[in-house]
Amino acid sequence: MNTPEFCSLSLKPALLENIESLGYTRMTAIQAETLPHILENKDVIAQAKTGSGKTAAFGIGLLSRLDSNSFKVQAMVICPTRELADQVCKEIRQLARLTQNIKVLVLCGGAPFTSQRASLEHGAHVVVGTPGRLWEHLQKHSLRLEHLRVLVLDEADRMLDMGFADIITDVISHAPSHRQTLLFSATYSEAVRALSQRFQFRPVSVSVEASH
Ligand code: ADP
Ligand code: MG
Repeated sequence: MNTPEFCSLSLKPALLENIESLGYTRMTAIQAETLPHILENKDVIAQAKTGSGKTAAFGIGLLSRLDSNSFKVQAMVICPTRELADQVCKEIRQLARLTQNIKVLVLCGGAPFTSQRASLEHGAHVVVGTPGRLWEHLQKHSLRLEHLRVLVLDEADRMLDMGFADIITDVISHAPSHRQTLLFSATYSEAVRALSQRFQFRPVSVSVEASH
């Protein structure tokens, strides 16, 4: 069975144009199952295997929430590794290219802290990073989350496997409690469920077995 097209969602025309310019017409299964809830600002916990299009699901969700005129961090994506953070940043930038004046910054270790701090001083709408470096920026007040609307935990299962539960908790303690929290994972486990219970409010739970 075919999944719906992106144009069936109530997206800003500019965002829809961007999505279509990437050659995406139909949503993948996980996008079709999660985006209607995400666009209603609900918390969502989503499980689907690798390669099923989870990045665009939360990427489109967070882009639709941004006020591009306000140069405050309004969305934050926490990823397990630098490589994944780079990929997520690239995809969000692609989804935002041409039409929205959106700045997306990567905040990971292995790159100079001071140049990241300088970039943050110029303002950013979205930050994508790994737990350790995000925590460092929060502690040193170079990153502020007062205006955060959307928090994404990407590859939550991997972050737990890597022992990031405590530092994620520290990072999220800086986020406003009135926010949307999206949790994406390739697998469901008790630990992932516990993470959801800790940081999400009445989440809609979505699980997709096949990728399309
Ligand atoms: P996951 O995070 O679930 O592992 P990704 O978000 O990395 O998967 O997506 C896998 C690939 O699918 C990417 O190359 C992405 O560009 C592509 N993709 C995502 N959504 C769509 C879509 N609706 N139509 C076509 N390709 C898509
Ligand atoms: Mg992914």
